[in-house]
Amino acid sequence: MKQSRFWPLPTWMMGAFLAVSACQTSDNADFVAVYATVETVPVDAAVGDDAADDPAVWFNAEQPSESRILGSDKKRGLEVFHLDGTRDTTDAIGRINNIDVRLGFPTSTGPKGLVGGSHRDQVGLVFWSIDAQGIRRLRSTALKSQLEDVYGFCLYHSNGTFYAFVNSKTGDIEQWELTATGDSIDGKRVRTLHLGGQVEGMVADDALGTLFVGVEDEGIYRFDALPTGSSTGTLLEASTAENPAIAYDVEGLALFAPNDSTGYLVASSQGNNSYAVFERTGKHAYVGSFTVGDGTVDGTSETDGIEIAAFSFGESYPAGIFIAQDGANTDGTVSKPQNFKVVSWAEIAQALLAKKP
Ligand code: CA
Ligand code: CA
Ligand code: CA
Ligand code: CA
Ligand code: CA
Ligand code: CA
Ligand code: CA
Repeated sequence: MKQSRFWPLPTWMMGAFLAVSACQTSDNADFVAVYATVETVPVDAAVGDDAADDPAVWFNAEQPSESRILGSDKKRGLEVFHLDGTRDTTDAIGRINNIDVRLGFPTSTGPKGLVGGSHRDQVGLVFWSIDAQGIRRLRSTALKSQLEDVYGFCLYHSNGTFYAFVNSKTGDIEQWELTATGDSIDGKRVRTLHLGGQVEGMVADDALGTLFVGVEDEGIYRFDALPTGSSTGTLLEASTAENPAIAYDVEGLALFAPNDSTGYLVASSQGNNSYAVFERTGKHAYVGSFTVGDGTVDGTSETDGIEIAAFSFGESYPAGIFIAQDGANTDGTVSKPQNFKVVSWAEIAQALLAKKP
């Protein structure tokens, strides 16, 4: 898609012109707006501090309403919230940058949720297990990265094997294979990848075996996620500046993956406070963009991390939830420390995807 060009038009015609050319312009007034139903309590930071960063979700299959929203506070640790946005607990473990969750991780007391994150003070990876009884740190050894600094992070699960990807601002990516022994976790580096730019946001598609990595000022690259796969990435054309809906930085990435084949890849387009939606498969065609506008809960801007959980959480969220970090949290006219916003995926699907030709 090419940037639209402007030519002289009488003012009275401009409205009509903009209406019919909405899909050709980067003005995010043309993006569909959805609204958050819930926001989490703010992270424990000062107003104006860039502290909240990346969300994740633990889905409680036995009792979906008792699922948890997790959020990194990149100055302080890990936050755990209930679905209504109230705080469950905090682990002030240090500077956790990005986090991710996978279900079914084997521990001595049965399979649990695995929560992992990049720990910038330790320059390594840290992990927790989570279930209905709560969240607890997993003991770990030897999970120090060889990167100069650790930044983006995601998990990947394939045929019973759990992996973690961690990256540095210089574009280096490590892949770790994780193993459980009782309540401990261990890992070994199995592959390194490299991209020529600042990277952070990553997400892996477990069913289709792909890893997506955002180069903040370029676009999204796709890799084979298996350690035996090719180490060459493919740049998704629709995620570059060729697409006027993308405004750098490309930040958080998330997948709407309700089954093993269809769905969407979503990216935070930080430069125009919007979220760009691509097909999960094929050439990852651009589908459209949405914003989270001011409603009962304030809208989002300058979003870093995002997350999507394609589960039914009950009546309020029948198709899942979309979570976005908000760079400027307000309550009315009062500025508050940063937090995370929760949007029903059904609303996004209705607003954006139903409009697909
Ligand atoms: Ca930020
Ligand atoms: Ca995440
Ligand atoms: Ca940025
Ligand atoms: Ca970033
Ligand atoms: Ca970030
Ligand atoms: Ca806001
Ligand atoms: Ca607010």
